[in-house]
Amino acid sequence: MRDAVSPSARVIGVVKADAYRHGAVEVARVLVREGIEWLAVSSVEEGAVLRAAGIECRILVMAGVMSWERDMVRELSLTPVLHSLDEFRAWNEGGGGLVNEAGNREKLRVHLKLDTGMDRLGTRASASEIATAITGAPHVELEGLMSHFASATDFVSSQTDEQIVAFHQMAGALAEHGVRPALMHFSSSNAVAYPRRSAWLSLVRPGHAMYGYVSPARGPAPPAAFSVKPALAWKTRIVTVKDVPAGAKIGYGGSFVAPAPMRLAVLSAGYADGVQHRLSNKGKVIAGGRFAPIVGTVSMDLTTIDITQSPQLQPGDEVTLLGREGEVSLDAQQIAKTAGTISYNVLCAISARVKRFYVD
Ligand SMILES: *Cc1c(COP(=O)(O)O)cnc(C)c1O
Repeated sequence: MRDAVSPSARVIGVVKADAYRHGAVEVARVLVREGIEWLAVSSVEEGAVLRAAGIECRILVMAGVMSWERDMVRELSLTPVLHSLDEFRAWNEGGGGLVNEAGNREKLRVHLKLDTGMDRLGTRASASEIATAITGAPHVELEGLMSHFASATDFVSSQTDEQIVAFHQMAGALAEHGVRPALMHFSSSNAVAYPRRSAWLSLVRPGHAMYGYVSPARGPAPPAAFSVKPALAWKTRIVTVKDVPAGAKIGYGGSFVAPAPMRLAVLSAGYADGVQHRLSNKGKVIAGGRFAPIVGTVSMDLTTIDITQSPQLQPGDEVTLLGREGEVSLDAQQIAKTAGTISYNVLCAISARVKRFYVD
């Protein structure tokens, strides 16, 4: 991605939500080693975790700072994203940034989010209102201007083009008021992958693609600017293997009735680990190098699969919930489709009790 967007744009590595559950500290360390200058998180607390681990690069806090968290933002040198003009006044009243070695209070650098049509976070104020707010907040420096796409993979809808036009219009109008932020950023993974070059600006903010996923596009999308493969594999082990006769009712509610004698394996992972409950009687895993269907309902700590086709499997054997065994693979996109959700949700659902191992 860095190559795809250079030299005009640089990359902000989005490591919110524990790096989509890949482990924020470990991912951040890899990115810093690769020379990344910026990371982005959702909350102040997520930023604090990175600082506590010794991550020193710039960290953008994207999803809001509560009033009682402002001192912590200053102390940890985090960079807040502002979503309304009132926040300029609030940060300014707090006196801007930290006191430097010369004893002067530095300006607090902030990024302002524009609502260009997603109607979630971001200000809908006019350029003159924004300029007035900035003039009234001398302790605050508007370092960055940003926005976020609602439908970047959709090449049928015109929403993305409209958002891009709205952003450039606002940036132009602000410049007329003398407001020229040093940095501008708009594009997350999908707007980089399906190149929306006019929205790459000075920085791009990919998350999902760093973890190896680009969402499927709708309509006439251009070819992807880069290709990725999933960074994460998720495995569990067989707790027990058993043979059941035809007519056996498997699991809670007896929702699966064995049509014939079957061999089952009970896996040491359930919805508390992040196996989607919606995969009950629908999903599959990879066991013994081939797909094995999930039978019955997924329970909190256990999932039952049909291994009639792989009778060699034993308790303690590894089973792949997400990943690859030889030619057979299962990724978060496929799982999401079966479960009626999105790949982001499949990754973010992998819970804290699933042990992470990092391999080079
Ligand atoms: C999560 C998020 C991103 C990253 O999105 P991906 O689709 O994972 O690349 C970028 N910007 C903002 C504001 C976000 O909330």
